[in-house]
Amino acid sequence: MPAVPSLIERYAAHLPVTDRTPRLTLGEGATPLVRARALERETGIPEVWLKVEGQNPTGSFKDRGMVVAVAKALEAGARMVLCASTGNTAASAAAYAARAGLGCAVVLPAGQVAAGKLAQAIAHGARVVAVRGPFDAALAVVRSLAEQGEATLVNSVNPDRLEGQKTAAYEVCEVLGDAPDALFIPVGNAGNITAYWKGFVEATALGLARRRPKMYGYQAEGAAPIVRGSPVAEPETVATAIRVGNPASWKGAVAARDESGGAIDAVSDGEILDAYGFVARCEGVFCEPASAAAIAGLRRRARDGGLRDLRRVVCVLTGNGMKDPERARSLAGAIAEVEATPDAVRRALRS
Ligand SMILES: *Cc1c(COP(=O)(O)O)cnc(C)c1O
Repeated sequence: MPAVPSLIERYAAHLPVTDRTPRLTLGEGATPLVRARALERETGIPEVWLKVEGQNPTGSFKDRGMVVAVAKALEAGARMVLCASTGNTAASAAAYAARAGLGCAVVLPAGQVAAGKLAQAIAHGARVVAVRGPFDAALAVVRSLAEQGEATLVNSVNPDRLEGQKTAAYEVCEVLGDAPDALFIPVGNAGNITAYWKGFVEATALGLARRRPKMYGYQAEGAAPIVRGSPVAEPETVATAIRVGNPASWKGAVAARDESGGAIDAVSDGEILDAYGFVARCEGVFCEPASAAAIAGLRRRARDGGLRDLRRVVCVLTGNGMKDPERARSLAGAIAEVEATPDAVRRALRS
């Protein structure tokens, strides 16, 4: 038994699982909720918390939904799982399929996947194909293949994925003793904001929380279909995990926004990278650029005076910064290379 029971075990009563569902686990969930003092000082909000989802086994929140989707596929006798991915879904599907003894095929948008995510999919033995076009084109391909019975689709259009992902909202309520006043979250294919809202609604019904948070979702300016109100044919952003032009859970995201009295806005790549550097340098938490869209949104809304009544907010940091080492490397210039002497190193550190 793992020290912390598996996500399926812990939340079995609230998930679409039975006694026959395999207790698949890699130790997902139960991620840290970390107080963000530098963001509190900057925004003037009394309590800002970071839900550090990059601490999941494959480095993103995708593991919460994937463990349920792959366990259900296994229970149903599937031999193979299939997904389209901007990278993290592929990494997660590959790892859980390996664990479960299933085959895994992933279809990626060519040239748009961070190096760490691709490395994970390959290491875990997935078959990888890149298609010319954005994530949306890859998703259309795998939906069609799944309909033809090629394999079980484990994208977030699979309802088991969202069921698993909603457990993050339960955890936030368990740790804080209630839901926060607001939740800040990046929006790509919009499954996660949909899942969190479902989780918070259930948490209030179960008595885990008294209130429901306002849901603030953030897209990147170059990939903001929900903000614009129409699909984007060629989405563009440095935050590759949210480079999505036609979100599958569009309706769920709009419902979360409207039922909670929140908003879905766009932030620029400049704001995203600024927030990415800020949380790493000032909070000690290294997230990936897509995750930083939530921080960028919080900072912008606080600056504009839109958060004065809020006492406690949670930002979801969806993925680990180590997924995309090249992006981090670009934050600094050349690294000084000197003789191996104390004097030379001291001079270099001072310059
Ligand atoms: C998948 C992903 C997102 C977007 O989540 P959706 O459910 O597609 O909206 C954001 N950040 C990271 C790191 C992701 O992997």
